[in-house]
Amino acid sequence: MIIIIKKEHDEKQLNNLIGWVKKQGLEVDLSEGSHSSVLGLIGDTSKIDIDLVRSLDIVESVKRIQEPFKLANRKFHPEDTIVDVSGVKVGGDNFTIIAGPCSVESEKQIIGIAEAVKKSGAKLLRGGAFKPRTSPYSFQGLRETGLELLLKAKAETGLPIVTEIMSVRHIDLFKDVDLIQIGARDMQNYELLKEVGKTKKPVLLKRGFANTIEEWLMSAEYIMSEGSKDVILCERGIRTFEPYTRNTLDLSAAPVLKELTHLPLIVDPSHASGLARLVKPLSLASVGAGADGLMIEVHNDPPHALCDGAQSVRPEQFDDIAKSVNNMLPICGKKQIL
Ligand code: PEP
Ligand code: MN
Repeated sequence: MIIIIKKEHDEKQLNNLIGWVKKQGLEVDLSEGSHSSVLGLIGDTSKIDIDLVRSLDIVESVKRIQEPFKLANRKFHPEDTIVDVSGVKVGGDNFTIIAGPCSVESEKQIIGIAEAVKKSGAKLLRGGAFKPRTSPYSFQGLRETGLELLLKAKAETGLPIVTEIMSVRHIDLFKDVDLIQIGARDMQNYELLKEVGKTKKPVLLKRGFANTIEEWLMSAEYIMSEGSKDVILCERGIRTFEPYTRNTLDLSAAPVLKELTHLPLIVDPSHASGLARLVKPLSLASVGAGADGLMIEVHNDPPHALCDGAQSVRPEQFDDIAKSVNNMLPICGKKQIL
């Protein structure tokens, strides 16, 4: 971090600042120029409050050289993290497909879809039990019953399960969930991030629809700072001026994240586009961009789905997507799934 000190500054205030920085365990390099003085901070500056420093009278500007996230930073952990979700590996040269309906609707529905997606190559089953809906009058999910049905589908098919948590009050209900999803709307619910981190369970952290890559990695840092290592990032599109698609899939995030972090990345083309017919091309593009996997919404009867029918593919469409993805994997440095 570099702090530019104003030309006209109070020496006492400058010495106070240098003393404070040293107390944070950092070394300070002061170079005095004719127009301004520059303080170079050496060491781990992730705990320095940049806004606080910026607000000081003697400070002209502050520039971060090092990213504010540490545990998620590839600089301090060069190898890819491979997250083990109840035996299913995510990251490295693995490519992992998560599939299932937006919401669990009935025992027959979830078990039927689970069997179909497993046959096509999915390794994890997704299904919403607690649903974050824009309207309080929309279907809110089967809640506890939804979790029970997911566990039944897991017992029946052997597929580990992924489902979204929305409240710290529900942590105990999620004890048998293999991968806890934190949704886009909760990416910056810091109390939830900390509590989920304490469980030490693998977490699928979706990107908030108006959040930067750095903010997303800072949220991963919240989970990891509780001692949890197993965070999987999920790009699900961001909100832009383009109304044709539900969101805009930010695929540049994939190669950027590969530089910045060692954590695996899953892409969700279903929420990114909102349109079932776009799921296949966006899935293939995600493989090309370097994603470690996909999360795809699959429904047996999309027109009658209780949530997100328009973006849900049918099991036979999912089968076709998985086969095409499989063909691309070797040229993208990934092991084939079929
Ligand atoms: C979901 O995965 O069903 C979901 C609600 O996603 P998001 O948080 O990305 O909107
Ligand atoms: Mn959905």
